[in-house]
Amino acid sequence: MSMLAPYAASEASSRGRLHVEPPPGIRSEFQRDRDRIVHSTAFRRLEYKTQVFVNHEGDLFRTRLTHSIEVAQICRSIARTLDLNEDLAEAIALAHDLGHTPFGHAGQDALNECMKKHGGFEHNLQSLRTVDLLEEHYAGFDGLNLSFETREGILKHCSRTNAAHLGELGQRFLRGHQPTLEAQIANLADEIAYNNHDIDDGLRSGLITLEQLLEVALFTEKRREVEAQWPGLGGRRLIHETIRRMINMMAVDLIEQTRTNIVHTGVQTVDEVRAAPRLVAYSPELQPRLLELKSFLREQLYWHFQVLRMTEKARRIVSDLFDAFMSDPRLLPPQYQARARLEKPRAIADYIAGMTDRYAIKEHRRLFAVGEIY
Ligand code: MG
Repeated sequence: MSMLAPYAASEASSRGRLHVEPPPGIRSEFQRDRDRIVHSTAFRRLEYKTQVFVNHEGDLFRTRLTHSIEVAQICRSIARTLDLNEDLAEAIALAHDLGHTPFGHAGQDALNECMKKHGGFEHNLQSLRTVDLLEEHYAGFDGLNLSFETREGILKHCSRTNAAHLGELGQRFLRGHQPTLEAQIANLADEIAYNNHDIDDGLRSGLITLEQLLEVALFTEKRREVEAQWPGLGGRRLIHETIRRMINMMAVDLIEQTRTNIVHTGVQTVDEVRAAPRLVAYSPELQPRLLELKSFLREQLYWHFQVLRMTEKARRIVSDLFDAFMSDPRLLPPQYQARARLEKPRAIADYIAGMTDRYAIKEHRRLFAVGEIY
């Protein structure tokens, strides 16, 4: 890693871990966080969780795992260019979706609905719960015992009610403070990744077409650049060449605007970053064009009838499972039964949130299909 900027997160200024541990030796503290995330069970499950398309719909679509790896790549490039802490940025990016339910946002909305009377369900908070509590890896503590800064980055959003129970970590939501620049980058790298890979997956699936994308200025502008450089290029190469230029343009725009914001506010330390307004941002010129792309994806892809049929089914699976376990917790696997005796709805939500798409489908079949014995 090159020299860190004074406002970068660093081990020296870290607020440390909940359980004190000996120093990691050859690695940095944030590298250790990243490695713990990669070795976690929740991380491996991301391979079988939906991004937009359900895992079994095709081998080439993004899953939460490949999405998280793309986010980490974009995040690292931006952090390194700005002399920020690349290890921390990477750790946050790899962990950002660990708490996601099966079936993407449909699953999360359904579970939130089920949990309405029991404190709700927020996937960012569930990611934190996963690394703080649910992972069973170490002899001395529950969870992964990650550094404060990694946990702070994982908790992207949080309601004020929940923040009030989170001690030091929840304070920023009550005070209106920001997290580190590395966490702010991870947040927007997530967006850069999905806005671009959803175009690619949407085209690959045939749910959206190149002709439809002509109405999206960002895409058309980059497509024209490719066609000028490579006349006659078509098919997948045209799509990839266009999308790689879009990713690059968004990352460069973000880097330049962020640099300007850092200079303007004159922040010198991580704590000044936390107290300043959000510094990682796109330029005012890019923002409306990104909104145009997002609303295109929402209307043409996320609300496509074939996607909606899948999300509707996903909703039903999640709420059926929740209702069945609530009415008879003895249907839960033994380790969850033990937890359900202490806090039934939350233990059930943890169990369902941890499921992969195909596990949830299988569990639904086990519980509801006549003819399935186990
Ligand atoms: Mg994400």
